[in-house]
Amino acid sequence: MINKDEVYILDNSVQFLKSIGPKRAQSFAKFGIKTIRDIMFYFPTRHLDRRTTITSGKAYTYLLDGFEGEITILASVVSKEIIKYSRRELLKVQFRDAAGFFECVWFQGINYFYDVFNAGNIFALSGKPALTKYGNVQFVHPDYDRISDDESRGFLNTGKIIPFYKIPKELRETNIGDLSIRRIIATAVQQYADYLSETLPVDLVHKYNLLNIVDSVKAMHFPDTKELFDRAVYRFKFEELFYLEMLVALRKHNYKTKLIGNSLKVKTKLIGEFLKILPFELTKAQLRVLAELRKDMEDEKPMNRLLQGDVGSGKTIVALIAMLIAVDNGCQAVLMAPTEILADQHAKNISAMMKMLNEKHPEFNIKTSLLIGGQKKSDKNKNLSAIELQETDIIIGTHALFEEKVGFKNLGLVIVDEQHRFGVEQRAKLFAKGKTPDILVMSATPIPRTLSMTVYGDLDVSIIDEMPKNRISIKTILRGEGKLPDIYKFIVDKNKKRGCQSFIVYPLVEESEKLELKAAETYFKELQNTYLKQLRLGLLHGRMTWREKEEVMLSFLDNKFDVLIATTVIEVGIDIPNANIILINDAHRFGLSQLHQLRGRVGRGTQQAYCILVTKDEYAAAAAKYKNNLEYLSPAQIEKYKSSVRLQTMVQYFDGFKVAEIDLKLRGPGNIFGTEQSGFPELKHADIVTDTKILIAAKEEAFNIIKQDPHLKDEKHSSLRINLIKNYSKSLKYAKIA
Ligand code: ADP
Ligand code: MG
Repeated sequence: MINKDEVYILDNSVQFLKSIGPKRAQSFAKFGIKTIRDIMFYFPTRHLDRRTTITSGKAYTYLLDGFEGEITILASVVSKEIIKYSRRELLKVQFRDAAGFFECVWFQGINYFYDVFNAGNIFALSGKPALTKYGNVQFVHPDYDRISDDESRGFLNTGKIIPFYKIPKELRETNIGDLSIRRIIATAVQQYADYLSETLPVDLVHKYNLLNIVDSVKAMHFPDTKELFDRAVYRFKFEELFYLEMLVALRKHNYKTKLIGNSLKVKTKLIGEFLKILPFELTKAQLRVLAELRKDMEDEKPMNRLLQGDVGSGKTIVALIAMLIAVDNGCQAVLMAPTEILADQHAKNISAMMKMLNEKHPEFNIKTSLLIGGQKKSDKNKNLSAIELQETDIIIGTHALFEEKVGFKNLGLVIVDEQHRFGVEQRAKLFAKGKTPDILVMSATPIPRTLSMTVYGDLDVSIIDEMPKNRISIKTILRGEGKLPDIYKFIVDKNKKRGCQSFIVYPLVEESEKLELKAAETYFKELQNTYLKQLRLGLLHGRMTWREKEEVMLSFLDNKFDVLIATTVIEVGIDIPNANIILINDAHRFGLSQLHQLRGRVGRGTQQAYCILVTKDEYAAAAAKYKNNLEYLSPAQIEKYKSSVRLQTMVQYFDGFKVAEIDLKLRGPGNIFGTEQSGFPELKHADIVTDTKILIAAKEEAFNIIKQDPHLKDEKHSSLRINLIKNYSKSLKYAKIA
């Protein structure tokens, strides 16, 4: 229950706190701390556990006993020196505490650390020490805190866990330091934390045994134990994810109830006849997904669905059948591709199939058109008017074009073949176009579960989790650059023996198109004159128009040349069944999902396919080290060896879902939330990669609440409602509470 008086007290300016006057209050306000509530939620960036501070003498005896844990020693700097040895350097700093001397060494950032440690200054040094061969206690690259003199008097040996706050420049300028901000916040928390009212539904606090808001705020700053602090963090993670899922649930509810769409169902024998012309049978997974789509499309409420499936799992055909259902109902259907050349390929394939169908069944007379930026103006205008007059049924184009004004006469279904993220904003734009069409977003690479529960959480999800039969797996091989001559030999050999075609991909050289062209031509000439002399080469680069690219792709498809050299990888989203080798140069410069996509370009035929990743020799060596322990790398290790981890992931995993999970772990979710595109607030406490369990629970609870009380009108949800409006107003743009 929210009591007006309590709210009032916490909303008072920080100026009313002891030792904050108007001037300091102004500085606090500059970075968002205006009220007493704000300052209580200004959590420390870290704590220093000074309960386990020991002397260097004690550390020595611990180490003799074989102790291997972390400790903290408080000591002052005695001396420092940079020592040269066999062409390398290290920094050694001598420290002294009451019990004696010990040392710390640094191998990297030597100059920086040299300036940090000045004789006489006191530091807290934390880490796992070891004994040197001379019997000295030694830390290698320890964590450290400079302890200012007054602080060491006030806090030294007090046996507490001490918070450290980020202190922006503005505050430092008003003479606020570590000690004073700690005192200010301690005062605020002591006097006012008890006035905080619970921000989570009370039954959830009980059900999940969460620390209540008051104790959590206290424990975030001044925890008595590590366990208490962890429980506070857990509570805030839960709260954050719970509100995130409330937004997701509201979005979904909003969409499902507010908008009215078509009821599209199989009407004539069109679908049945189309299935007959397919040269293969649909997989079980494709059939299951189709059933899910049909159910959604038949419903009057608009479909808003995400179709996932690994590269090559056969999403396009499923999408086409859905489009035909729309056509069967007298509607138009749209397929949006991420690039012109992909749109072009889709259009070619689809119109070829439609031609076959129309020939057998002239009564269907299904028309397809392509709408892309590179078209002649007259063609484009003709297409636009055909769309307006509904002289065409299936329209294929690029994302960009549909963001312009295209006047559909009767749009029933939109399929987004997604490569770049198609955010909530873009989806919202589509809905705005008159009657709401059904929407199916196809993800080019699998999306980890955590993301389909959050960023895509307002979409229903269908998954094709089975590959068409007779697919031969792809061997992924990682090699250092030194091995390139052998690889070229391999390519020539496979071509001579089996007629197999290959892709050779280079990363984008520069943003400048001129440079790119030059690089592409250089690679081309070099290979043509040397290792690949015996083969016919083709070239694809970013300066070509889509028509030129199309020509190259078509002649590659026709086997008019053996090797396609490509610099604009993103354009290579294309089906060449006879291409069985893809060589990716400078593979460390590609993202994981990009690599996985590229690998998906081969292995579509019946022969063994190869994906050869070439990188710097040292990366290849490092990657080999992580064989079999990718799952166990610590965040710090991952950070340090990111590109090698990516490459080893490719070698080890073929399953796109696995690859996507690792990708998310490597990139961190930070760059997904808090962006315009996601429409969600930034996460401060939770990490959806590591906090999946909490996310699942939070989602279930949030969706339950919205199901029972979609407008949060129930008295017991009133504080939820108030919190949402107060703290998440921006995100509510896509999810209004009625
Ligand atoms: P993606 O899911 O990557 O979009 P596509 O739809 O491009 O995959 O399908 C890849 C290839 O597999 C295409 O050549 C397609 O014709 C073929 N294909 C799709 N479904 C099946 C199936 N059930 N059996 C055999 N081949 C299939
Ligand atoms: Mg596809």
